[in-house]
Amino acid sequence: MMRFEVSILGCNAALPTYKSFTSSQFLNIREHYCLIDCGEGCQIAVQRYQVKAFQIKDIFISHLHGDHVLGLMGLLMSFGLNQRKKKLRLYGPKGIREWVEVQMRLMNAHLSYPLEIRECDSEQSELLLDTPSFQVFSLPLAHRLACQGFLFKEKPAHPNMRKDRILELDIPFRQIPAIKAGGGFTDAEGKFWPHEELCTPPPPPRTYAYCSDTAFHPPLAELIRGVDLLYHEATFLHELLKNAKKTGHSTAKQAGEMAKLAQVKKLLIGHFSTRYQDTKALLEEAQSEFAQTAAAEEGKTYSV
Ligand SMILES: [Zn+2]
Ligand SMILES: [Zn+2]
Repeated sequence: MMRFEVSILGCNAALPTYKSFTSSQFLNIREHYCLIDCGEGCQIAVQRYQVKAFQIKDIFISHLHGDHVLGLMGLLMSFGLNQRKKKLRLYGPKGIREWVEVQMRLMNAHLSYPLEIRECDSEQSELLLDTPSFQVFSLPLAHRLACQGFLFKEKPAHPNMRKDRILELDIPFRQIPAIKAGGGFTDAEGKFWPHEELCTPPPPPRTYAYCSDTAFHPPLAELIRGVDLLYHEATFLHELLKNAKKTGHSTAKQAGEMAKLAQVKKLLIGHFSTRYQDTKALLEEAQSEFAQTAAAEEGKTYSV
């Protein structure tokens, strides 16, 4: 099966520390590379974890808080220093164009490649990217400023042709595309074989939802229902619910509640406050609501 996996480059809230970075993820979706958020230190994490950063085609920024975007200018400049020629697409909230352009102008910087910026409507879900094999939608979140998550959705693949049938019935190769598309086949003796007896169904399309930063936001559940992997922020333990509400964040318990509400398959929590020395208590709290939970670990890759 084609790869669909996410590598955690950073999952701290607010501050980088000497051993860990703020939000950033490298997504490999069928060998199409994307970056989700770009906190300070992203370039260092990229080297440390040896992801193919220079082949990134699309960058998705959730919002303009520093812990999600402060690494971006450095990365864009480094692509230029490496003489990148290929177009780069950047998606983010309203204001990201100005954020980039003002800095470019003040630095008198010019990029060696075309940068295409798309500002999202952070109030409703939109289709942002449509490729032959997958789509990306925005997910409106509830935070202190315009913020959206992202839903990565594979398109259904074609069924697989059964090799034994090709040999057994001597099916000409030129007929295979039509059979894969749903057709049948009539053999030399005039017997008709329906599509179902010639092909095996394709694997179900996989989905990944990135939701950070956000307060507990019930309308989100409908948009991410049944996803294979949900990354949901879990900044605090529930004993600090007051802080979570005040700052537009979620507790680990609430992340688990969202996973349960949306009936996702797996939950990955992240965006941990640096007040916690480790993620054990956060993980246990989320698991008390939703058993299939893991705590994000920097440098680790998770299959969708
Ligand atoms: Zn944040
Ligand atoms: Zn934020």
